[in-house]
Amino acid sequence: MRGMEPASADPARFARIFEVLGLGAVHGYLARRLRAGLLHVHAADMVDDSLAALAACEDFSRIEQAGFRAGFRRGWIDILQGFGRDFTSPGYRSRRLAFSAACAHAGIPLGLLLLQHGLIQRAAIERLTAGAQDAPGVRALTDCLLRLGALDAYLLAEGYRAPDIDALRLALEELREEATRLHRQATTDPLTGLLSFGSLLESLERHIDKARARSHPLCVMMADLDFFKRVNDTHGHLVGDLVLRHTAQRILAAVRDFDVVGRFGGEEFTIILKDTDLAMASIIAERIREDIAATPMHVKGRNISITISIGVAMLREGDTGETLLDRADAAMYQAKQAGRNRVVAAPG
Ligand code: GH3
Ligand code: MG
Ligand code: MG
Repeated sequence: MRGMEPASADPARFARIFEVLGLGAVHGYLARRLRAGLLHVHAADMVDDSLAALAACEDFSRIEQAGFRAGFRRGWIDILQGFGRDFTSPGYRSRRLAFSAACAHAGIPLGLLLLQHGLIQRAAIERLTAGAQDAPGVRALTDCLLRLGALDAYLLAEGYRAPDIDALRLALEELREEATRLHRQATTDPLTGLLSFGSLLESLERHIDKARARSHPLCVMMADLDFFKRVNDTHGHLVGDLVLRHTAQRILAAVRDFDVVGRFGGEEFTIILKDTDLAMASIIAERIREDIAATPMHVKGRNISITISIGVAMLREGDTGETLLDRADAAMYQAKQAGRNRVVAAPG
C-alpha cells in the first residue's frame, strides 16, 4: 500500500491536476449523466468491442497468458461504470491505481493499457454523438468525457509504476468489497428502504431523457413532513425514525408500481411520476396528502398525527433535473407558507 500512497493520498497534488484539467463540480453532474445514459448500459459492450480490436496486437497474448483476461475485462467495466463518480475522492484514485498495478503485475504493457483506454474513449464519443439532436448538451458531455478520461489515463500511468504489487492486489480486493458495499449503501436509504438521493437523481435523469424522447409528460413531487422537529422533540428521535418509515410506506402504497419514490434528505421525499401531467400529478399528490393526514401513527399507546406539504412541478422545455426539482421545491415551500398540510402545483 505504501508505494501507492503518495499518488492517491496527496490531495494538494490532485487539486492541481483537477485545475490543469479544468475539472469542477459540474463534471460530477455531467459524469452522472454519462453513467446513467451511456456507461451503465453499454460498458460491457464497449469493453468487449475494444478487446476484440486489441486482439490484433501481439502484446495482447500476454493478457491471455497471464490468465488475466476476465480480470482485465471486469476491471475496465468497473472503471467505466464508476466513471467520474466521486472523482475527487481518494477511493476513486486508489481503484484506478490498483487496477493499473494489477495489470503491471500481469505483465501487460502500459502502451496496451493506454491503447485500450483510447479505444474506449473513441467508442464512447461515437455512441454519444450518434444521431445526436441536442448538440450543446452532447458537446458538454463529450468535453467531460475527455477531461475525466485524461484523469483516468493519468492514474493508469501512475498506478503502473507502483512497486508494491502484492500489497496493491490485496488493496484492490478490499476496495472492490468496499465499492460493492458503498454502491448498495448509495442506492438505498437504509432507514426507509426508498431510493437514496444519488440514485434518485440518476433515475430522474433517465426519466427526463425518456419523457423527452417520447414527448410524454413527466412530473415530480417534493413532499416534506410538517413540524417534524416537534415529533422528535416530543416523542424522541427513534419515534421520529418510525414516523419517517411509516410515511415512506404510505407514499409507496399510494403511488403506482412504476412511479419512483426516493428520500431526498431528512424528512423530505421525492416522487417521480412518469406519463403524468400536472393535473393528474396534483390529484395523486392530494390523495397522498389526505391518506397521510387521515392515518395517524400508533406508538406506545399514543396517536401521532402526521401531515405533509407537497409541491408538484411538470417537466418543461429547457429543464434539467435540478431546475425541475427546484420548481417542485419552491411550490412545496409555498404550501408551507400557506399553512402546511396542502398541495401546491408550480405553474406549468
Ligand atoms: P416544517 O413544517 O417547516 O417543514 O418544519 P419541520 O420541523 O418539519 O422542519 P425543520 O427543517 O425545522 O426540521 C426538520 C427536522 O427533521 C429536524 C431534524 O432533526 C429532523 N430529521 C431529519 N432527518 C431525520 C431522521 O433521519 N430521523 C429523525 N428522527 N429526524 C430527522
Ligand atoms: Mg425539510
Ligand atoms: Mg419539515
